[in-house]
Amino acid sequence: MQATYPISEIKQIIDATGEIVEDSQISLLVTDSRRINHPGATLFFALSGRRDGHEFISEAYNYGVRNFVVTRKPEIITTDINFLLVNDVLTALQKLAAHHRRQFSFDVIGITGSNGKTIVKEWLYQLMCPEHNIVRNPKSYNSQIGVPLSVWQMGEGNDLGIFEAGISSIGEMPRLQAIIQPTIGILTHMGTAHDEGFESPRQKLEEKLRLFDDCRQIIYQYDLLIDFPEHMRGRECFTWSRKFNIANLYVFSETTISGRYYMRAIYKGEEIECLVPYRDEASVENAITCWATMLALGYSPDVCDDRIERLTPVSMRLELKHGINDCSIIDDSYNSDIQSLEIALNFLKQQNQHNKKTLILSDIYQSGLQEEELYRRVSQLVSNAQVDRFIGVGKALGQYRSFFGESQLHFYADTAALLNDLSRLHLQEETILIKGARSFEFEKISRALVQKAHETVLEINLNTLLNNLNFYKAKLDPGVKIMVMVKAFSYGSGTFEVANILQYNKVDYLAVAYTDEGIALRETGITLPIMVLNPEPLAYDKLVANKLQPAIYSFSLLDEFVKFAQEEEILNYPVHIKIDTGMHRVGFEEYEIETLCDVLEVNPYIHVESVYSHMVASDAEQHDLFTLHQINTFEKIYKAIEEALGYTVIKHISNTSGITRWPNAQYDMVRLGIGLYGVDAAVPRESTALQPIATLKTTVSQVKKVLANETISYMRSGSLNADGKIATVRIGYADGYLRAFGNGVGKMLINGTLVPTVGNITMDMCMLDVSNVEVKEGDEVIVFNEHQRIEELAAQIGTIPYEILTNISQRVKRVYFYE
Ligand SMILES: *Cc1c(COP(=O)(O)O)cnc(C)c1O
Repeated sequence: MQATYPISEIKQIIDATGEIVEDSQISLLVTDSRRINHPGATLFFALSGRRDGHEFISEAYNYGVRNFVVTRKPEIITTDINFLLVNDVLTALQKLAAHHRRQFSFDVIGITGSNGKTIVKEWLYQLMCPEHNIVRNPKSYNSQIGVPLSVWQMGEGNDLGIFEAGISSIGEMPRLQAIIQPTIGILTHMGTAHDEGFESPRQKLEEKLRLFDDCRQIIYQYDLLIDFPEHMRGRECFTWSRKFNIANLYVFSETTISGRYYMRAIYKGEEIECLVPYRDEASVENAITCWATMLALGYSPDVCDDRIERLTPVSMRLELKHGINDCSIIDDSYNSDIQSLEIALNFLKQQNQHNKKTLILSDIYQSGLQEEELYRRVSQLVSNAQVDRFIGVGKALGQYRSFFGESQLHFYADTAALLNDLSRLHLQEETILIKGARSFEFEKISRALVQKAHETVLEINLNTLLNNLNFYKAKLDPGVKIMVMVKAFSYGSGTFEVANILQYNKVDYLAVAYTDEGIALRETGITLPIMVLNPEPLAYDKLVANKLQPAIYSFSLLDEFVKFAQEEEILNYPVHIKIDTGMHRVGFEEYEIETLCDVLEVNPYIHVESVYSHMVASDAEQHDLFTLHQINTFEKIYKAIEEALGYTVIKHISNTSGITRWPNAQYDMVRLGIGLYGVDAAVPRESTALQPIATLKTTVSQVKKVLANETISYMRSGSLNADGKIATVRIGYADGYLRAFGNGVGKMLINGTLVPTVGNITMDMCMLDVSNVEVKEGDEVIVFNEHQRIEELAAQIGTIPYEILTNISQRVKRVYFYE
């Protein structure tokens, strides 16, 4: 059962003032106006973040929401709204969740640590769900907002809670502790993530331990807390260690047996064992934490071993890929519960590239809800997401088919039946969300629908892209707009995939290099204003038909555009005026401004939307005087133009590093380019706030033994120093891995080791010296990612990251991740 509170009771719980004008029963808390599904039962919290939640009240009202928690009453004429007034909206949300938490007396496990929180939480769920009806955070909703929303899910059907808590600075944990009120605590791996929010690693650890303030039992790695005895006093501790045999679970032997990891340990004086289906360090450590937790909770070693051996990977991310028949496939085939369904449907809703949206959904297990209630809610989510075609797989969905009234419906008893029928469904030019419980093996459907991938892929992490966007937004003065440069396939990162996310997150403008690029975005449903940097006069008709806005940089462009507008009887068409303040590429120069003003003054055909210029070296200290000169020239010129026009225009000059280094040059807008993709020469590389969004990877096609006296590749260009071996990988200069990387200049990561190229790079393949590494055919090879950075590749061949990114050819498949 979902919690339901009368609004009057919530008012008391959160100590709000304000008048209740209409009685409401609240069961859903929402902080994002784009995620309203059941407006009647929704309480909207107008949080102040980067955007003030109060700005979205009218949007939420239009969806039908009538209950709001606010710090001030907006000027809304209608009288049918309950406004609960509080001093701090986030505190109110947290208070409400804490109150709700107190209604339950079953055990709640609280998990913290730097890494592994989500995996441990999800694995414990897998391991203990046979006995328990568990409530947990959806995905990794572990923040100051995510935790209260997660705890709010606690319901009567549950008998165990597992919640993770993530913090990035001092003072945050006590707030989360007060909401989760864990009775059992788990500390996972401690690393360096979020170190910058703390004075020292010790301070960070102490802050994390605050989660355990009221725990009766704590589970942790003995080695980590040797120096923290005072924190453990008076509690039951269950420890594990690989070094110290006084730990409750002492792991003394670890070996790999046919791809799996075999551990032996001493527990209560007896030898016990456990097989883990993964070998990598992080998974093994997370598995030990789960092992310790199960033992601490009284599971027998045999049950632990039996269940841990069958752990399945935790995939929190969904993937967006190109599919057959020009479909877009959103692959979320590894888990299914109602919260993650909502998140995935929301992502589906953000996709504009096809008119038709299809959902393939399996039965949902272990929801903690009565079946009928569960599928009624599923059907509401589906209908809110405007799904055109619903394909249900499983007995329960079939039984409740009458709930799914409006869309086109298909039901199958199992996955095999759907696969048999797939070709008859004629899936074509639609966006298809595949979402299923693991046991339905929906990966088979995804494989059938996704085009066979050439094994070199560019993976784009859309969450990181969003973080990067927010990193720059946070630097902007209030009211400053943001234009995002998505020219050249978003610096090689994609077209509508990137633009959809930007549109959904409300950037103000996009910019492309050519009219065709703008048209491609319009054809995939992008409605944001789009500036075209190089509008070709021959395509002015297409430009206008697609509501694209030209950048005008010369008198000839201007004349031709005005002539075109005149002929078409267009008035006030939005254009952007480009000023050359020192780049000497395109743009009006200072001496031309007077004439330009004369032309603009008397022109009814165009409306100058913005005036802009471009910094030539915003990231380079040695050119700062020149940048200042550019800024001064720009100011002089835009003032003259505004005066001639008689109205104000949007002024902008900053690119990525301009935002970072020239906070006083934001004017009315900034133009974010390469920073969105995680590269900014003006941000220290160690900073984790900005991260590369792209990973380029390929695979090994063959491994060969080569003798010292043999040669490798065309023109006999390569050889090894001693007898050894080489790995041939599936990437060459036609994919954008330039010839300059050949003969040891470039390096790639194989199984964690950096290895050099050997010999010339060929068109579709190249060779790596793997003499000292264990490698086999099919192994994954990283060309660049967040460790082996694009900046390093650029340095290796004496170019800039922009060129590396935009060179990756279109034949390399793009796959998008979203968590
Ligand atoms: C490409 C471009 C940008 C973005 O530059 P970055 O250095 O990638 O941020 C900004 N303005 C104009 C005119 C551009 O062409």
